[in-house]
Amino acid sequence: MPENSTAKLDPRGRKVKILATTGPASNSPDMLRRLFRAGVDAFRVNMSHGEHAQHAETIAAIRALEKEFHRPIAVFCDLQGPKLRVGTFKDGKAVIRHSGHFTLDRDPQPGDETRVCLPHPELFGLMEKGQRLLINDGKIRLRVIRASDQEILCSAEVGGVISDRKGVNVPDVEIPIPALTSKDRKDLAFAVEQGADWIGLSFVQRPDDLAEARRLMGGYGDQKPALCAKIEKPMAVRRLDEIIELSDGIMVARGDLGVELDPEDVPPLQKQIVGKTRTAGKPVIVATQMLESMIESPSPTRAEVSDVANAVYDGADAVMLSAETAAGDWPEEAVTIMHRIAGKVESDPAYLGRVRFLDTPPDPTTADALSHACMTIADTVPIAAVTVFTGSGSTARRVARERPSVPMLVLTPRLKTARRLALLWGAHAVMTRDIGSFEEMIAKGKRMALRHGFANSGDKLIALAGVPFGTPGSTNLLHIVTLSGDELEKRET
Ligand code: PEP
Repeated sequence: MPENSTAKLDPRGRKVKILATTGPASNSPDMLRRLFRAGVDAFRVNMSHGEHAQHAETIAAIRALEKEFHRPIAVFCDLQGPKLRVGTFKDGKAVIRHSGHFTLDRDPQPGDETRVCLPHPELFGLMEKGQRLLINDGKIRLRVIRASDQEILCSAEVGGVISDRKGVNVPDVEIPIPALTSKDRKDLAFAVEQGADWIGLSFVQRPDDLAEARRLMGGYGDQKPALCAKIEKPMAVRRLDEIIELSDGIMVARGDLGVELDPEDVPPLQKQIVGKTRTAGKPVIVATQMLESMIESPSPTRAEVSDVANAVYDGADAVMLSAETAAGDWPEEAVTIMHRIAGKVESDPAYLGRVRFLDTPPDPTTADALSHACMTIADTVPIAAVTVFTGSGSTARRVARERPSVPMLVLTPRLKTARRLALLWGAHAVMTRDIGSFEEMIAKGKRMALRHGFANSGDKLIALAGVPFGTPGSTNLLHIVTLSGDELEKRET
């Protein structure tokens, strides 16, 4: 993405970002290109499926797209996490009878309709009478009658067909295992080596899980991937504030969250998690089953359309597609409809009023005050765009937190920052060289605003930056400039 790229303002002009999961339906260069053109801002590589060689090819194809379109694209590598699974069955499957008994034990022999191996020794001796074990996304519901360090005898409140290696959720216990399995550690090393921009950490239970991932990645830093905690365990909900504090972003992972909790608990939690993450000035993604029926159908249900729209009205930074783009029959259509829904909500005159905060951040700073001022100035006088100069991206996050009415052009010398911001509400990131002086910054902001189609002669721009340049967190300068005809001429040169 050279600074002198001729890329124009993305005609989509959408503020909410789209994160699309790659998979067999979408990891060809051609389909990735089609999805990008349809509106994808960031691609999710799901480490629960596929091999490293395939993921490396997908990531290389995404990087090729960046070059082709001169736009930064985020690669989000989602680690599988400590997903619990049962063992195998003699016939590959068995039927658990409603109201019958079923035992999970440590015997590795294939199971039947009375028992199966649970190859997670740490769970034995931990489960207690009355606690729940949910199998296959909660379709089978077991309750513990008696548990020892060898077996867990359950009654089946809801039975059904159980097959090899189906997932198990144990919402009532904090499992004494780290959030990163040995597979996750290998996947994390691979993702870092591949230059992933975001890492998704699954089944986070406690703040220490994030500290551990951060340690494995070699600490904090603009050149490290950003860390997104997926909220899908009740334990994580209980310690949400601490988890947000240690994360760079949050995902409302409604799939497992709706199994570990009752499904009706998820909508209020979605609002709470989105609100708290936004208060902290970090991006928040709403994920899973958003357009689920589009895995098979070219058009969504009315309820799915409303679900996407409501996530946008909640103020989410990004909405995610899972199997719709990874394995569905209509990946391009799913992105197109998601883009249309988000655009429709954003054009609702009531939208900004709904997603704006009236409160200040928990620890307001000069940078927050100036970011808030950007929003109020743009509401008061005609402003074409806010140009934000940032190294780490923190100033852009502060401005996005305010949900300004005008576009935000983020100028950064760091490619990693530009890519990370692909998940931030309203951020249109463009690479620049390092800025040396105030005059250079103003001239650069004007040129880029013109070149990227954000402004025209006579328009006013807000420039927001920290001086001296390159000092993280030093945002202390807000300047309003007017574009003259001269700049228009310079654009042509
Ligand atoms: C979820 O459970 O909602 C989720 C996003 O995680 P995964 O797709 O990895 O199961």
